[in-house]
Amino acid sequence: MLTLAVPKEPGWYLKPSTILESRALIHSLRWILYNLGHTSNLEVVRDGPDIKEELVLFLNSFYSPERVSPDYSFLLNLFAHIWEENTFANLIRRMPLPNLDSVLMFIDGLCWYSLQAPPPADDSSPWNASPVVRLVIAIKCFEGLLEELSEKGKKLPRTPVAQFLTDLDQHPLVEKNGLLTVERNLEYALEKLRWAQEVNKSENRHGAMMRHFDYIFEVQIRQIENRLPDGYNSHQGMPQDGNPMSRISDNKDAKHLLMEYIPSEDVVSWFAFREKLLFGFLNRTDVEAGLRKWFSTYEGLIICDCEHIFSFTLPSGAEPGVQVTCINCSTRHDVDPRDARII
Ligand SMILES: [Zn+2]
Repeated sequence: MLTLAVPKEPGWYLKPSTILESRALIHSLRWILYNLGHTSNLEVVRDGPDIKEELVLFLNSFYSPERVSPDYSFLLNLFAHIWEENTFANLIRRMPLPNLDSVLMFIDGLCWYSLQAPPPADDSSPWNASPVVRLVIAIKCFEGLLEELSEKGKKLPRTPVAQFLTDLDQHPLVEKNGLLTVERNLEYALEKLRWAQEVNKSENRHGAMMRHFDYIFEVQIRQIENRLPDGYNSHQGMPQDGNPMSRISDNKDAKHLLMEYIPSEDVVSWFAFREKLLFGFLNRTDVEAGLRKWFSTYEGLIICDCEHIFSFTLPSGAEPGVQVTCINCSTRHDVDPRDARII
């Protein structure tokens, strides 16, 4: 994926998860403002240093440079630089309170635009598939808008951010760099997800893992299907009050988005093993036990009615009812892994 190196921090790059997490921070700051009665929906809001200090206190408690990795500080400071401030805390302190909520909303929107990147497609620019490239281009366009407004002596409009993002799809810089419209990106992501769901069902022979990924794809497909008619406009994506949970009114959304789902023991243990194997430390016994549990296979022989004899292998997590196909006559045979030999 195309990304940006963090200046003066060798080995650090801007990650899509950093953009995602920065939105969570922006949402939290807006939720605090909303609860204190200071939103951009109000005609008159009082300025007050105390309120802004509350926001800075929250910011520094969780996102000060000492607490987060360099890519987080880099991204937050990048947003501050749009308004010619050197740190995000200074942006909060110096931005007049009546404008602060709008400023946060637009930062939220820039991140939301960037994260609409679908998986790489053959027929589109690789730039379209990179949230980081999309963010940089969106910031360039947004700076252009700010310059235009400042030349006319105007402030940020109160137009909904979703409208700004929809207009952005037609911006010459966006088109020139091969970024696609939100409709096209959502449709493409949906197409890829439906494909992945089918492949998982037909090819993933580990019962518990297959059901887990089937569920994950079901959640993602439903969310994107629901978003198709509205493009960038999303209550959960860019909540009016900063709280993505306050607008959940649908029972299925509640089930899907409020984490009621608990993966099976098998799935939890796979992800724990994978994490430790790749990024942590495991002693030899644990490595062997994990590899045996996850990578051993069942092997068996089948004598088909066509008189062809063939062998098959299945992962150790295969469950009764899994099928294998005779390569001679294409008959499908139900197999019970318990009848097979583990190797
Ligand atoms: Zn056969």
